[in-house]
Amino acid sequence: MATNEAIDQMQHVVHISTGISTGCKHCRTPIGGDRFAEAINHYIQEHRYRLLHVGQQTEDGSEGPYQTTVAVLGVPLAVSEDSLKII
Ligand SMILES: [Zn+2]
Repeated sequence: MATNEAIDQMQHVVHISTGISTGCKHCRTPIGGDRFAEAINHYIQEHRYRLLHVGQQTEDGSEGPYQTTVAVLGVPLAVSEDSLKII
């Protein structure tokens, strides 16, 4: 489990949720929602992120509360910007 301190040492941090479909913040590949595991692997393999935290979260939906799985990934400050393949 990541502490806030660990997150502070990251130059980029992303939050991925099974409840939200979005695009990769760097290359706009569709991620999140049904592609949760794929999204995590995408950030790790394509952009050198590290997995910092995975957990369950309760969201309020129009049909009542529902559970989502969230992941937080980050790129350590030590990784050079040039090597991230970030557009
Ligand atoms: Zn990407």
